[in-house]
Amino acid sequence: MERDTVLLKDSGEDIAAAAELIRSGNVVAVPTETVYGLCADAVNEAAVRAVFAAKGRPADNPLIVHLSDFSEAVKYTKSIPELAYRLAERFCPGPLTMVLPKNDRIPMITSGGLETVGIRVPSHPVMHRIIQLSGCAIAAPSANISGLPSPTCAAHVMDDMKGRIAAVVDGGESRFGVESTVISFEGENSVRILRPGAVTRKMLLEICEEVIVDPAILKELEEGSIAASPGMKYKHYSPKADVVMVEGELDRFIEYISENYGENVYSLIFDGDADNFPYRYVTYGADSEEQAHFLFQRLRELDEIGADKVYVRAPSKDGVGLAVYNRLIRAAGFEVIRV
Ligand code: AMP
Ligand code: MG
Repeated sequence: MERDTVLLKDSGEDIAAAAELIRSGNVVAVPTETVYGLCADAVNEAAVRAVFAAKGRPADNPLIVHLSDFSEAVKYTKSIPELAYRLAERFCPGPLTMVLPKNDRIPMITSGGLETVGIRVPSHPVMHRIIQLSGCAIAAPSANISGLPSPTCAAHVMDDMKGRIAAVVDGGESRFGVESTVISFEGENSVRILRPGAVTRKMLLEICEEVIVDPAILKELEEGSIAASPGMKYKHYSPKADVVMVEGELDRFIEYISENYGENVYSLIFDGDADNFPYRYVTYGADSEEQAHFLFQRLRELDEIGADKVYVRAPSKDGVGLAVYNRLIRAAGFEVIRV
């Protein structure tokens, strides 16, 4: 249904208006420290259905539920391991989502048919205030059309969601630029990373004895296998252009581009590569933190300038680099070339 989408500011008055819209069953896009989220009351089935419809999201891809404080998690879960409390003490509020057994207050539509629910406590002051004022647990996937790069500013959200949702709150650029780290619990002192994000394996190892990186983070799921995290099975984060990841040194990368160059072919390279780079390019930061911050923004820009083919210099897999690599390999539909 086509409707007006109101652009709200991050003023006290507009934040209160956004919270009231959510409380009364509407869908509103809100800035968070990871990316912008498409927010609805997590226990209101009609509102959650409207989120899936606005995104065109497959019904089996669960929504993360956002709370104002981790102590609220008892209201929506059957049990919480002791390790979760220790992790919450260190990483909540922040970009960490913990998968826990859900209770009956969380509708099946919110959890994508699973008996578990991902719980996160965002640190962004606007999102935090909206959760508090609405009094709701807020289900919020990334505020993009399903399959497209996640939005890191209000203009990206408007590009995808104008006419589909009630309002967008403009809170500037998202700090991290990639979605939260999603973990599940394996044992008393052990977790599994289902989706990498700004909370890195090394950071989790400060609290947990064992941190398993799910194999589906770096490679394509085999046909017929079951995804530990449903989002892993979908092609994701893709601009219109065909993306190919190229692993190797800069001189070999340049050689490869020279052999595959043509109209509307672009390279997505590191800041330090740009001096004397002989072909059309866009840069995406100098280190993993910057690459995470800029990646989705640059993928959207490449569409705007009309790129048909994008060769990306493969990022480091260290630290938050693992999250950047994970998003890019999905944007590339797992097409990786080693030079
Ligand atoms: P998004 O809403 O776009 O940030 O994507 C959320 C992702 O988190 C989903 O695609 C899943 O991969 C993961 N996720 C959310 N809830 C669960 C859950 N209960 N179990 C496993 N993975 C989950
Ligand atoms: Mg998403």
